Amino acid sequence: MYQKEFMEAAIAEARAGVQNKDGGPFGAVVVKDGAIVASGHNHVLSNNDSTCHGEVDAIRKAEQKLRTYDLSGCEIYTTSEPCPMCLAAILWANISKVYYGCTIEDNEKIGFRDLKFDSMMGGRANLPEGFMEEKDRELCLGVFEEYTGAEKTLY
Ligand SMILES: [Zn+2]
Repeated sequence: MYQKEFMEAAIAEARAGVQNKDGGPFGAVVVKDGAIVASGHNHVLSNNDSTCHGEVDAIRKAEQKLRTYDLSGCEIYTTSEPCPMCLAAILWANISKVYYGCTIEDNEKIGFRDLKFDSMMGGRANLPEGFMEEKDRELCLGVFEEYTGAEKTLY
């Protein structure tokens, strides 16, 4: 069941990433049995790694911590609807539920290409019913505003 405190933790990650200029305003936490296993944020700029999105960062850390490549029974909270790459990573990790704040249309508005890539990849109409759920979008949009108000590099 959705717990706002976990989205707030994902937002704190996103905010830290913006303040450190690590990358875009995106944070995520992996949750298991009602507790945070690992959290991460976008490090595309600071790591020179186009694949280091918030969800991927959180998944890598969770798998290292739990010493498994299988996150069955885990949920992920992400400040923004996952891009096609992150969505695939979430599926590969067997994560059962995604709670996201901002939508990929919101990402488009601040200059990211998620929507373009999503349509190139055929969209997300075939995902299981209830796999992804939008929550606390307004709260997450706050970090986007902090990001667009700061000096930024788009990629
Ligand atoms: Zn992504």
